[in-house]
Amino acid sequence: MSQASATAQQVVRDHLEGISCRPPLTAVQQASYKEQIKALLIRENAVLVAHYYTDPLIQQLAEETGGCVSDSLEMARFGRDHPASTLIVAGVKFMGETAKILSPEKRVLMPTLEATCSLDIGCPIEEFDAFCNEHADRTVVVYANTSAAVKARADWVVTSSIALQVVDHLHAKGEKILWAPDKHLGSYVQRETGADVLLWDGSCIVHEEFKAKALEDIKKVYPEAGILVHPESPQAIVELADFVGSTSQIINAAKTLPNKQFIVATDQGIFYKMQQAVPDKELIIAPTAGNGATCRSCGNCPWMAMNAVDNMTEVLKSGSNEVFVDPDLAERAMKPLTRMLEFSAANK
Ligand code: SF4
Repeated sequence: MSQASATAQQVVRDHLEGISCRPPLTAVQQASYKEQIKALLIRENAVLVAHYYTDPLIQQLAEETGGCVSDSLEMARFGRDHPASTLIVAGVKFMGETAKILSPEKRVLMPTLEATCSLDIGCPIEEFDAFCNEHADRTVVVYANTSAAVKARADWVVTSSIALQVVDHLHAKGEKILWAPDKHLGSYVQRETGADVLLWDGSCIVHEEFKAKALEDIKKVYPEAGILVHPESPQAIVELADFVGSTSQIINAAKTLPNKQFIVATDQGIFYKMQQAVPDKELIIAPTAGNGATCRSCGNCPWMAMNAVDNMTEVLKSGSNEVFVDPDLAERAMKPLTRMLEFSAANK
């Protein structure tokens, strides 16, 4: 195991030890927070940009106030193109940073600046830079779940929704790839495209917890169910899938596939939008943990869960938790990010 990987695991363990479940809000409290946030968004000329994995209450607020609920690629695009002067980014740190890089003139606030990601933690810039230097003949492709510094070191940034297309494109040009940080997504991309891909050793603590044996067992209980899998999951899970794709692609697959039930291997925050898309279908979270449980995430990203209506209200009132990115890093990270957005627009 690399030093970065060991450090990431320790940080994750420490974080999981430290978190406590938030007590659920009463209906009256929920309504009060929603009312306050709606008024504050208008007062601050702000728009709410939320990820599919956040609390359904936050997703609902984004929908009701003209914001967006989406994957990280669409969040980046929406924030950049929206006329509001303030973006409230409900997600994890790299999403706030990406929003700031793409919209340097806007104020970017996050309900918490402590929400990070095991992939970001597991890819510190010093070690990553050395890795890239050791393999200077390779095109550096990094997943969006990375720091601004890692993006600035990359040739390409990709999200899971366009990773296959981008690597296919580079492979067709005869380029060899250095991929970071998610080894499972990277290995999936390698298998699907046949490209020469050198992998960094990182993983998502949520998707890594899905268990193949338990998934096979639940499939026996729901034999007609389709299995939808995010490619951050291990290969054994991907091999059981009827469909593999990004969050947006999974929602779309639930609409187009004929099954009436789906077992879904990604963060269960996605069920809010997915159930809207397929109101008559039954959604079942893929089993996590099993006998070897080491993680308390259980289909719920502990960092995404740190975004809540109370800290969002506070941030809107006080203007705290503003995201800043070093201008030099931002300028360099802008290039691979823009490349991704342009590639995505040209290959829709
Ligand atoms: S679900 Fe995984 S990849 Fe997404 S933010 Fe959480 S730890 Fe990172």
